[in-house]
Amino acid sequence: SLSTIFVITPTYARLVQKAELTRLSQTFLHVPQLHWILVEDSPRKTPLVSNFLMKSGLTYTHLNVPTAKERKLQEGDPSWLKPRGVEQRNEGLRWLREDRKTEPGDNGQQGVVYFADDDNTYSLQLFEEMRSTQRVSVWPVGLVGGMKFESPVVEGGKVVRFHTGWRPSRPFPMDMAGFAVSLRLVLANPDACFDGEAPMGFLESSLLKGLVTADELEPKADNCTKVLVWHTRTEKPKMKREEALQVQGLGSDPAVEV
Ligand code: UDP
Ligand code: MN
Repeated sequence: SLSTIFVITPTYARLVQKAELTRLSQTFLHVPQLHWILVEDSPRKTPLVSNFLMKSGLTYTHLNVPTAKERKLQEGDPSWLKPRGVEQRNEGLRWLREDRKTEPGDNGQQGVVYFADDDNTYSLQLFEEMRSTQRVSVWPVGLVGGMKFESPVVEGGKVVRFHTGWRPSRPFPMDMAGFAVSLRLVLANPDACFDGEAPMGFLESSLLKGLVTADELEPKADNCTKVLVWHTRTEKPKMKREEALQVQGLGSDPAVEV
């Protein structure tokens, strides 16, 4: 039987959140045996996300944990200053290790864990590539790191180095979207998690170095020659006219959920 793909997604309230979640969930609806672990960066589960998930048609777990105030990016900070979604991804890992109840028909430890940000673009083929992950599988990520793509470089079926524009000496110089981990390995290494204090660019490495060595990485996507995921980012919508109309009492109806 197919192994389950557990997808951990951090998400936070903003104007484009429902649009992002709609696009993402409608991709996931095309993936068999997918369990979505959606983790809100919030002290409470919000009605928008709760209602959204209930109507999504997906198998899901809804979690929440707020980012500590000193770790949160402030308005005006450059986006690279602090890693985003760290506590939320760790909460997803905690749920897999502590709270998950194996259900009848569930293969127990047979599963794959993938960290999918809510704004990236995912090919359905990517999920079939990662489903056979034994330990940690890897592949290229498009439009990331100031490059057309970043990728592990494969020779003789092994990852021998990394194509990246920045600090190739990092233990695992890969984007979050560029790897998946077997559930067995996550459960066998209960302390492995993301380190929010890791220096810039070392967040992925902070998890992976607790799980594998570079020579154990399993290249997917035709020996890492195909881009099946893109690190797209969504423009922040301008609200200039909305704000002008609000002053006149003519703003968009706040009862309409966007
Ligand atoms: N995120 C979050 N809280 C925040 C900012 C971001 O939970 O304060 C989530 C976001 O929804 C996404 C992930 O963390 O799933 C990565 O954030 P983002 O896409 O902004 O990072 P970037 O694309 O700049 O790497
Ligand atoms: Mn992003």
